[in-house]
Amino acid sequence: MIESVSLHLVRGLPVIKEGDCLADLIQSRFELLDGDLVCIASTVVSKSEGRVRDLSSYTPGERAFKIAGNLGKDPRFVQAVLEESAQILLERPFLLVVTRFGHVCVNAGIDQSNVPAGRILLLPENPSLSAERIRRELSRDCPVIITDTCGRPFRFGVAGVAIGWSGLSPIRDWRGASDIHGRKLEITLEAVADEIAGMANLLMGEAGDSTPVVVVRGLPRFDGDGSVFMPEEQDVIRAVLSGRGSRRA
Ligand code: GDP
Ligand code: MN
Ligand code: MN
Repeated sequence: MIESVSLHLVRGLPVIKEGDCLADLIQSRFELLDGDLVCIASTVVSKSEGRVRDLSSYTPGERAFKIAGNLGKDPRFVQAVLEESAQILLERPFLLVVTRFGHVCVNAGIDQSNVPAGRILLLPENPSLSAERIRRELSRDCPVIITDTCGRPFRFGVAGVAIGWSGLSPIRDWRGASDIHGRKLEITLEAVADEIAGMANLLMGEAGDSTPVVVVRGLPRFDGDGSVFMPEEQDVIRAVLSGRGSRRA
């Protein structure tokens, strides 16, 4: 049972540039303990990995022009989204895609906030590999979660979710545990990485706070593997969006 946890902003991080070592920047500003969980906004992971692009470097294809026309968006931006995507789920009223690493989100998570004008920021190519690298660079034994702020289907409001992780299972398996009446849980898988990312995102802020790293202290280690990304063949909603599922009950 988790009694309490504490969350701590890492203060004083600079504007991140390509090649910066996030692990060193973090641990020189915050005294990490073994078992602390380090949540890092994908924005700064992308910057450190040089995932900034000039909008002018994209040459839109026919499909990008068509989608951009419908959305009233810059076709070069749409081209960038297409290039980061493995599958397009919706072309309007917004561009909903599956990224190459399996995350379903709007605009392939490409950001135009917290980057200079005329530039865009792609998500890390493989956020879990980024998390693993950062975790190895830390001198303490700390799981790492890479977060992004996303909209959610069925609900208003954006929230932080985990798009990469290392050193913990993003899913906590409650199957086999008993409820208060002794009935065994059969299907409950809890997306702990998303819940943690949500808390961390709350502290990070969305604008100019310059606080992309939050340390969570006091959580048990959620062991195991697994992913929060649902494979296409199990994803009923994705099937409906791509016209393969039933639209009516
Ligand atoms: P996202 O949720 O990963 O898309 O990132 P956001 O753009 O929402 O930024 C999350 C937090 O990181 C906010 O507090 C931003 O001010 C901060 N942030 C973004 N870029 C930088 C940076 O280069 N350096 C620092 N110190 N903070 C940044
Ligand atoms: Mn983002
Ligand atoms: Mn954000």
